[in-house]
Amino acid sequence: MLPSSSEGLAAFDQVLLDACALVRPPEHLTVAEWADKYGMLSAEGSAEPGKFYVSTAEYQRTPLDSLTPGNGIQTSVLMWGSQIGKTQIALFFTAFHVHHDPAPILFVEPTEDLAKVIVNDRIKPMIRDTPQLRELFASRAKGKTDTFHMPFPGGQISMGWANSPSQLASRPIRALITDEEGRYGQNIEGDPVDQARKRLATFKTARKHLRVSSPALRRTCRITKAFEQSDQRRYYVPCPQCGHFQTLRFSQLRGTAEDCYYVCEAAGCCLTEDDKHGMIRAGEWRAENPGGGDGKTAGYQLSALYSTIGYTWAEILADYRKCEGIPDKLQVFTNTVLAEPWDEEAEGADLNAVQKHAEEYVAQAPSWAIIFTIGADVQKDRIEATKWGFGLNEQSGVIEHRVFHGDPVKQPEVWDEFTAWRRQQVWHESGLVLPIACTFIDSGDGNRTEAVYSYTKKHERERVYACKGSSLKGAPLVNQGKRVGRRKTIVVSVGSSTAKDILYSRLQIEDRTRPGYIHFPAHAHAGCDADYFAQLTSEKLVTRQTKGGETSKWEKQQRRNEALDCAVYALAAKEFTRAPLRELARKLELKAAQLPPEDRPGGERWKMARLAVQLVDVLKPSASSDSSLASASPASRPQTMSKKRKKRRVRPGFSWIHGN
Ligand SMILES: [Zn+2]
Repeated sequence: MLPSSSEGLAAFDQVLLDACALVRPPEHLTVAEWADKYGMLSAEGSAEPGKFYVSTAEYQRTPLDSLTPGNGIQTSVLMWGSQIGKTQIALFFTAFHVHHDPAPILFVEPTEDLAKVIVNDRIKPMIRDTPQLRELFASRAKGKTDTFHMPFPGGQISMGWANSPSQLASRPIRALITDEEGRYGQNIEGDPVDQARKRLATFKTARKHLRVSSPALRRTCRITKAFEQSDQRRYYVPCPQCGHFQTLRFSQLRGTAEDCYYVCEAAGCCLTEDDKHGMIRAGEWRAENPGGGDGKTAGYQLSALYSTIGYTWAEILADYRKCEGIPDKLQVFTNTVLAEPWDEEAEGADLNAVQKHAEEYVAQAPSWAIIFTIGADVQKDRIEATKWGFGLNEQSGVIEHRVFHGDPVKQPEVWDEFTAWRRQQVWHESGLVLPIACTFIDSGDGNRTEAVYSYTKKHERERVYACKGSSLKGAPLVNQGKRVGRRKTIVVSVGSSTAKDILYSRLQIEDRTRPGYIHFPAHAHAGCDADYFAQLTSEKLVTRQTKGGETSKWEKQQRRNEALDCAVYALAAKEFTRAPLRELARKLELKAAQLPPEDRPGGERWKMARLAVQLVDVLKPSASSDSSLASASPASRPQTMSKKRKKRRVRPGFSWIHGN
């Protein structure tokens, strides 16, 4: 069948477009040459703002040049760690297609929020600080300019985000950047990278796709798969003493954070931070799978050990020490520092093993607990809530789980009961009585959102906030919180999937002395009964085949999972406080030392409080909704919140520990 005249015309247009794309302007520069000549680093994204030179981070030269049009490479995969400039490469690629070789560009981030961050914190500062770009955007090209659409003569930068297919589909593009792919999930139309790539189809020869990310879980990580289907380049550097070329590996780092050195794999030569820059300048990329994949894909793997921009080997070693033995932290370190995918994953927790964590607390809160938060889940006939304690070395544990019966929409009494319990302070083993630092209440259930908003708005000064779970893989535990609706209620987005990854990997720790261990109280009154544990361990990580490949998600294995949701929100609330735990621990110790002798451990009133804790169990064997525990403890006094606050702020302060 002959093409209709308009189709024929479009095809002709396309040939012309393709041809134009390949015609070089008088000054022919590669992307690395462009960056060397015009590239600027902005204060927002660099510790050393000013003119950029590729030689300061020589490993960037080849990946930049593989993005130069007409060199036969269509896809560049950067599986990189943090602090080695992977976003900078995406920015120079963008700038090159604005100034040197104008083209329509699509820049994709995992979410709309992250797209906004890249525009405001990286793209706009780059335009501001690079005179050649500033002029072009000032020339007011045709087309509407907004945050997500920035036209310039000959093209435009469009922003897209992976969870919205409509942001990924529309006009053809020649340059595509898919940034932070490790955090993309599937959207309702399938695979976001496939959707975005379709827009490159028109430009058969000149198209370029830059894929950038730290890796994630091996089984489902798209950047890991993309790298495996490439020519797999790694950066080899020569030993300054014996000349042997090798890749930098974390296992060769030795010593302490104060006295750190690198052991050459060939001859055991001891190398220091001072040797690093010279080694990297003399290094080269070597393909370990030459000609692999489709032959048009260059893959680059690079760890933060190569950082020449302010992340030293000693700092890497110190960061490793902080997460040693804590599976979820170690995973982040492996992904973002070593740029390697993580092999194991928490697929769930064993109910029987977790139940064995139950232990007798001496007081309401054991000595390791430093700050306390509440996570609450609102159902149609009840509110479920858990008080959690958090301490040093990532220790945490339940203080008390409670169920408040009643319809939260129609029966305000249920909120009153919840409030009374929420305000009860926690009697700590040291003899101190400590308040709750922050409370998160789930507002994600559409039927009860309004009831939650009106409650949290009313109690905002007591650091009570509405939250909403996001199942997006790799989403941060909490965002900064946003004011929404007519009443400007604060709503915090919680990375539920991330929180479950953390909780389930920690629930597997069985040695009480190991960092990350989760404690549970054995007292009947604390509410951690068989049903509680069944709910807490109710989800499993389920991996499914979808049209975009394998994807994994936490899924309920039984009807009820409120205990787990409460744990997720309490953990998020703790993260939201950004509590300086070490400092707070020190202050807590000082305050405990100032207590009158009768309130200190072993003192008369302390013993009374201890008795009260035990009696509550005898008198009230089931978790009822009116606990008189806090009023039974002698040192308890109502904590009044300061009515006059100088400045309304979303994040809670820590006046409670500095004050009284
Ligand atoms: Zn050597």
